[in-house]
Amino acid sequence: MTEGRKACATVYLRGLNWIGDAVLSLGALQGFKKIHPGISVTVGAPPATAGVYRLSGAVDAVIDPPRLFPGLRFDAAVVLPRSFRSAWESVFLSERRIGFASEGRSLLLTDSLDYREWKERHLHQSTYYERLFQALDPATRFETPRFTFPDAAIEEARVRLRSLVPEGERVLAVNPGAFYGRAKTWPAHHFVRLLDALLREDPGLHAVLFSGTADRPLALDILRRLPHPRLHSVAGELTLEQSAALLSFCEALVTNDSGMMHLGAAAGRPGVALFGPTDPLATGPVLPKPPERGPGIRVLSVPTACAPCFLRECPIDHRCMERLEPERVRDEILRLLKGKGWE
Ligand code: SF4
Repeated sequence: MTEGRKACATVYLRGLNWIGDAVLSLGALQGFKKIHPGISVTVGAPPATAGVYRLSGAVDAVIDPPRLFPGLRFDAAVVLPRSFRSAWESVFLSERRIGFASEGRSLLLTDSLDYREWKERHLHQSTYYERLFQALDPATRFETPRFTFPDAAIEEARVRLRSLVPEGERVLAVNPGAFYGRAKTWPAHHFVRLLDALLREDPGLHAVLFSGTADRPLALDILRRLPHPRLHSVAGELTLEQSAALLSFCEALVTNDSGMMHLGAAAGRPGVALFGPTDPLATGPVLPKPPERGPGIRVLSVPTACAPCFLRECPIDHRCMERLEPERVRDEILRLLKGKGWE
């Protein structure tokens, strides 16, 4: 721990509001806990992401930030979001408050990091979280985020899977949605062509459509266009933790750039992530690092002059996604299913 500071036994971590960001933040926390296993970490997270933190073996407790009660104190608070409110909350929780300076909140933080300097370097988002934990201990190194599933969650997922797919048959997880906006979604007609080809080519393969409630209509549209006995849907039916546990049983994942992509990666599944208007160098999935093995999730995209635009809706013809051909995605998935990994 940083010299000249009093010993730290308890840390409060203000969690993030987006699922993908929350999953990425686990990598820095894991790296910190690896060198400080005795430090207790309590995460304050909104309901949308509390499940991410509950699935981390590096987290000791998860609480709902609005329910923080007087008298709760920690030796240090690491504030992951850049909002004023999250820094303000931390004032009541710890004398030592670590966060990036933005939204005029540097006076609320005792360890205020330079956000502009970090932003100008165009680094991956994982380095943002690593920097925050390095303020607690400079030896912290980002680790590949990984979930730890309770036995009951694994058993529940096994039962659910058996209700859809016979024992011994392989499952491809498919996420056709992206909560951020339509611009990030690969067109439904491409998903239909991809699944039609894969299910024809591999008679032992099933595909299961995953998504949150908001994207359920997208999944149902694909089911309607491709009624097939080996195409199933759990879209909008599962909690975040149930989705992650079920993903851990799947052979591979094909997904848009979304929270589900990061859930699949943290569940240890390989796959293909389809990127259009966003930047995989900034928020792409983290690949397994040695000694871990496995191909991880590979990014597929097509060079497009207007990308990355970061828009929620495409103002032109959505060429960044339309031109990403299903045949290319099929070839990559088949290579994975045959155990060949990536070239
Ligand atoms: S403007 Fe370009 S990068 Fe953005 S969504 Fe449309 S096609 Fe994709």
